[in-house]
Amino acid sequence: MEVGTFVSWLRDAASTMHDNASYLTGLDSAIGDADHGANMDRGFQAVVALLEESSFESVDELMKKAGMTLVSKVGGASGPLYGTFFLRFGTALAGVSPITAEAVGEAFRAGVGGILQRGKAELGDKTMYDAWAPALDAYDAAVADGSDLAGALTAAAEAAAKGRDATVPLVARKGRASYLGERSAGHQDPGATSTTLLLESAARTLA
Ligand code: ADP
Ligand code: MG
Ligand code: MG
Repeated sequence: MEVGTFVSWLRDAASTMHDNASYLTGLDSAIGDADHGANMDRGFQAVVALLEESSFESVDELMKKAGMTLVSKVGGASGPLYGTFFLRFGTALAGVSPITAEAVGEAFRAGVGGILQRGKAELGDKTMYDAWAPALDAYDAAVADGSDLAGALTAAAEAAAKGRDATVPLVARKGRASYLGERSAGHQDPGATSTTLLLESAARTLA
């Protein structure tokens, strides 16, 4: 896999977040402060600006810079969480060649490890982790079953969508939505929704 493949993912993710900004902000208006779509759009537009002004020799350099951009440009919980995801994702691929489906899986797991370290979420807390956790497991299961990268990413995106849907009845225990207590139940988590969009974008572009 070439650096250009990962550039394609970031560009596709940016246009996806742009197209879904009102949808994500609408979800955040029910259980948060109505800015998740704007946050994701602003962050990924800054990543696109980075891609315009620099060229990257390696996947790890690209992903680390993208992560730093998200940390610095997105206020709110999601900026540091997604920023750390990309930083760790890049670090995991430093010096790795060729980049195999296994290596991408390890990079996803390392990235999500960063999200957990920062956000301390557990499964069922009604956060983005409720989409990431089943996605990682589905990815690894697909690879163990002999799937190639495309198959593993498709399985991961489908599992993330189920995890996203399963956040609806949950009571939030992390982030702003947790301030609502029981009233957070009955609403889909915005971050689990953007995670699913990011993985669907990966399935379209990385394989
Ligand atoms: P903010 O809540 O600061 O306005 P956003 O609206 O951009 O930030 O992002 C909210 C999303 O961030 C939530 O829907 C949830 O998925 C995710 N989130 C919040 N806190 C955590 C956490 N501690 N761990 C994992 N994800 C979290
Ligand atoms: Mg918000
Ligand atoms: Mg906010």
